[in-house]
Amino acid sequence: MRNVFFINSRAEVCEVEKWYQPKLSLARKLEKLIDESGTLDFIGKGDIIAVKTHFGERGTTKTLRPIFIRKIVDAVRERGGKPFVTETTGLGMVKDRCTAIGRLKIAEENGYTSQTLNAPIIIADGIKGYDYVEVGIDGKHLKKINVARAIADSDAVVCATHFKLHMMAGMGGSIKNIGVGCVAKPSKFDLHCPTYPSINENCNECGDCVEVCPSNAIIDFKVIEELCIKCAACDEVCSQNGVELTWLGGKDISERIAECAAGVMKTVEDFAFFNFAVDITPHCDCHPYSDNPVVPDIGIFASNDMVAIDKACYDSYVKLEKNPDSLVEKFWEWTDPLAQIEHARKLGIGISNYRIVDGNE
Ligand code: SF4
Ligand code: SF4
Repeated sequence: MRNVFFINSRAEVCEVEKWYQPKLSLARKLEKLIDESGTLDFIGKGDIIAVKTHFGERGTTKTLRPIFIRKIVDAVRERGGKPFVTETTGLGMVKDRCTAIGRLKIAEENGYTSQTLNAPIIIADGIKGYDYVEVGIDGKHLKKINVARAIADSDAVVCATHFKLHMMAGMGGSIKNIGVGCVAKPSKFDLHCPTYPSINENCNECGDCVEVCPSNAIIDFKVIEELCIKCAACDEVCSQNGVELTWLGGKDISERIAECAAGVMKTVEDFAFFNFAVDITPHCDCHPYSDNPVVPDIGIFASNDMVAIDKACYDSYVKLEKNPDSLVEKFWEWTDPLAQIEHARKLGIGISNYRIVDGNE
């Protein structure tokens, strides 16, 4: 049984006549949660701490507010750690989110800067997403994981996760923030697609994919698998639907995410997880928009176990009445969010039995 600490997002007004009550701020409550939960107590003097979050895509408006990340950064520093805030590049090579340069640009547009976060921002998998440490795992689907180098080089990872739904994986919690967000491009590819790309009969031989391919792996309009470095840029630029790629969903992608998370856990000694169950949108923050939240805000969860914390968020979410003015009634029907939790548990990277320690009481 794991402890999952929780603080409610409600501003329970105890003195109704008073308007100025800073203690009701969720940012203030986060400070209390960090102190009382002890989730950051493993941090030692001089430890390099990666604070992993998701900066969102351009156009997303309900990402995690910078103030929450800043509070975590400050708490890391107070305990003697050296924090940096981090994120990885996305699949592809062309869109801004696919390189460190563009990622930082979008981060700034969305309000995440070294000034707002009070820490340097480092894109963990390098300029193009190929700076990684490879580790072996004995997964059902995957045997090697390419962990983003700045993550692998850190003494610990503190996850600041916006808990929301996800169109392919069901939910985006800590397991996803680690499993997708802390790996470099080849593993991002492997968790989304089971095979190399190929070129089909729709191809009009325009040559766009040949030009963009970073490893010259497309010769005579055929993908040479031995040369392909799994970036998905060919698919990104093709306007003819000429690149064949199988995009996984449901149980498959959920289990692969858990396997990637298991790989990341092999490279770093300590982890802490904060799930912010606020603005629970139907889409992940990688979408270029944000719909109305599916349920009212719940609060903030904290734990050192990524499986327990995601299960606690899942359980809290499912029992709430859903917003008819949001896109989904519950989870996307083809997804299997519990498969992430169940597979992660089987891989031994956490346990799903938890006890809520309510910081409001
Ligand atoms: S970009 Fe598409 S249409 Fe153009 S050569 Fe490549 S596969 Fe063919
Ligand atoms: S063939 Fe492989 S390396 Fe080349 S663009 Fe496509 S996915 Fe990237």
